[in-house]
Amino acid sequence: MRDSLKLFAVRGINIRLHITFPLILIWVVLQFGLLTGQGWDGALFGVIVTLLLFGIVVLHELGHSIAAQNYGIGVQEIVLLPIGGVARLETIPENPRKELVIAAAGPAVNFALAVVLLVLDAVFGLGGRFDSPEQMVAAMTTVSVPAIFNYIFVVNLFLALFNLIPAFPMDGGRVLRALLATRMDYVRATAIAVTIGQSLAWLMGLWGFLSGAFFLILIAVFIYLGAGQEGQMVQVRHVLRGLTVRHAYSRQTRALPPDATLEDAVQHILTGFQTDFPVCTGERLVGLLTYKRIVEALNEHQPGKVVSAVMLTDVQPVAPDDDLFKAQRRMIEENVDVLPVVEGGRFLGLLTSHDVNEVYLLASAQPNLLPNLEKTGVMRSG
Ligand code: ZN
Repeated sequence: MRDSLKLFAVRGINIRLHITFPLILIWVVLQFGLLTGQGWDGALFGVIVTLLLFGIVVLHELGHSIAAQNYGIGVQEIVLLPIGGVARLETIPENPRKELVIAAAGPAVNFALAVVLLVLDAVFGLGGRFDSPEQMVAAMTTVSVPAIFNYIFVVNLFLALFNLIPAFPMDGGRVLRALLATRMDYVRATAIAVTIGQSLAWLMGLWGFLSGAFFLILIAVFIYLGAGQEGQMVQVRHVLRGLTVRHAYSRQTRALPPDATLEDAVQHILTGFQTDFPVCTGERLVGLLTYKRIVEALNEHQPGKVVSAVMLTDVQPVAPDDDLFKAQRRMIEENVDVLPVVEGGRFLGLLTSHDVNEVYLLASAQPNLLPNLEKTGVMRSG
């Protein structure tokens, strides 16, 4: 099941709306309507500027996406969340020049939009004429062209500047890393960019705490965690480089026949190490019975239920020569702990997150150990 809804597509990129998106509309109705005392007029203003704002976010994300496509990097989709947009790129290039261009393209769209809005204002006077800044602010929450125009102009500039904060996961963090990476290796550049980003997050959080701005504290936490994740991702990719699923997957896997029962699976879990089971007929994989699925099934069915009736049948297997890092990313994105390994229609074993973690820790300690081990004996599953 998808948790987002497709709106339209641009250059093959699906623009999707996350199901939590209506939350932001409810929030703006409350914020601009009730809290400002402007009633329905304020609420309508809030909804209009929010929809326009998300149009701007789409343009910003399209800036990243089209820059990526120009380098031959595929873009899966753009998802709009209440907190903003995310463009899902197939890969983030490690070439600093490319990353710099892709990261800067988003804020560049906002600056270009600001210029367009300024020209529109100069030609058509869309921003209106005010005697004082106070008068302009006072007119900000009424439904009128100047009010909406000025609000959008300010928010658009804010978006550009906010995204240029030099901290992951903001665009500015990527710009900073790319600039550092022109002078040093990529992993070190990332580590420094993460430290700078997390230090900024601390300062922002402290400022929010001292000034009582709860929202700033939230953003600080978001930046702090986002920076840490980026640092970890780059570290894992570095360590797992050149390794394939073959280096990590468990060969000695016990498979269940389709007519085995849930009770059989439970027996195996209690008496062995294995908690996830491939379901096979001969050497052919027909389904997967994960630990999570077993527990779910036991809540719904009697222990005598055959596994073929409850197993997962839509799990895309990996091949032994697949890139290990990509398999690891897939497990994180799909929120699964185990993937079946299949080659030429033959089931070979299971790749678990535990297997990947093992390889990560061993390869961190001894980078040359794993490729060598692979050349010596390979165990087959029984
Ligand atoms: Zn961006």
